[in-house]
Amino acid sequence: MSVEQAPVQRADFDQVMVPNYSPAAFIPVRGEGSRVWDQSGRELIDFAGGIAVNALGHCHPALVKALTEQANTLWHVSNVFTNEPALRLAHKLVDATFAERAFFCNSGAEANEAAFKLARRVAHDRFGPEKHEIIATVNSFHGRTLFTVSVGGQPKYSDGFGPKITGISHVPYNDLEALKAQISDKTCAVVIEPIQGESGVVPADKAYLEGARKLCDEHNALLIFDEVQTGVGRTGSLYAYQHYGVTPDILTSAKSLGGGFPIGAMLTTTDLAKHLAVGTHGTTYGGNPLACAVACAVLDVVNTPETLAGIKAKHERFKARLEKIGQQSGLFTQVRGVGLLIGCVLADAWKGKAKDILNAAEKEGVMVLQAGPDVVRFAPSLVVEDADIDEGLARFERAAAKLTQS
Ligand SMILES: *Cc1c(COP(=O)(O)O)cnc(C)c1O
Repeated sequence: MSVEQAPVQRADFDQVMVPNYSPAAFIPVRGEGSRVWDQSGRELIDFAGGIAVNALGHCHPALVKALTEQANTLWHVSNVFTNEPALRLAHKLVDATFAERAFFCNSGAEANEAAFKLARRVAHDRFGPEKHEIIATVNSFHGRTLFTVSVGGQPKYSDGFGPKITGISHVPYNDLEALKAQISDKTCAVVIEPIQGESGVVPADKAYLEGARKLCDEHNALLIFDEVQTGVGRTGSLYAYQHYGVTPDILTSAKSLGGGFPIGAMLTTTDLAKHLAVGTHGTTYGGNPLACAVACAVLDVVNTPETLAGIKAKHERFKARLEKIGQQSGLFTQVRGVGLLIGCVLADAWKGKAKDILNAAEKEGVMVLQAGPDVVRFAPSLVVEDADIDEGLARFERAAAKLTQS
């Protein structure tokens, strides 16, 4: 039995929603693979992937199956009880990474909140209250809670909400000397995105991450990798730390982990995990059976040699065509990134205009993202079909041509 729903339009957003977002003019209503349809039945190719979330595109059969089976079985019990999907997911993550322990939550910000609290707790227990300083990087993004905007290196997200969390400093990204100058025995943690996602798709240098690892060890500080955007196959390795060969003490994951169902995870070692003893931290929904059942299905598809190799091949397909589009149109000067997290760096004449390019792309029927005002970002499904890549980039090429010829 279907219940008649009241019709809604984009204009309703401005009437009934808090105005903290500025969504596109159309409303997506259905998706399949890398294609999305809007209210008018118009079809678009999705290279935005819900901001690096829809790792297997829309309505992947394995995820629909996992979600509906779990929906008919058990939705939620709270953490007063554990549940089978959570334990299975933890086993999969522990088996596939450096980690020995998992903590589940509902978003990237919450995963980072847990990571930062754990780092401070470890230092407090082992060395006392003096050792609480966190070093993060300029332009980094770690989420929107007060702790995570305070650690994030973009004051526009943290200013204007009263006193910030203190004991946090920011050093330039990929600058080992700056980190070396800032780190001390008061440092409890250094937090790095292996690829800065939101602020322009900037990959770390291998030597930078290796140097950060060494400095942390010298100062008894923990190395935290925020892999909320880079994790779960995005780079062609399950996690980007594996691509770089530098192992953190704490890793955070979210976005692609649920393939569109909200879930976050903090991964760490047994030795560190024990500092979050009973009662020290928690969440009502975290590790919910629905979310964990879907995440298990995501990992089963993504963490295979075929899928991971496919991501590297698709990277080359995107990069070659995008470089050509950049040269022909003069729109961008560089295509950077790893795996299926790709950034096109706008030429000087187009600096600040990433949003205009998104809008032009949408008019041609392809959804892309920006990463700051100067970079157009692609974060498509990790299993996007080659035919969809070709068709989507043909549409993007038309958008670029129209923009630069007018
Ligand atoms: C998206 C993102 C976050 C925040 O995740 P939410 O699920 O929006 O809270 C944190 N860190 C990085 C690197 C991200 O890309």
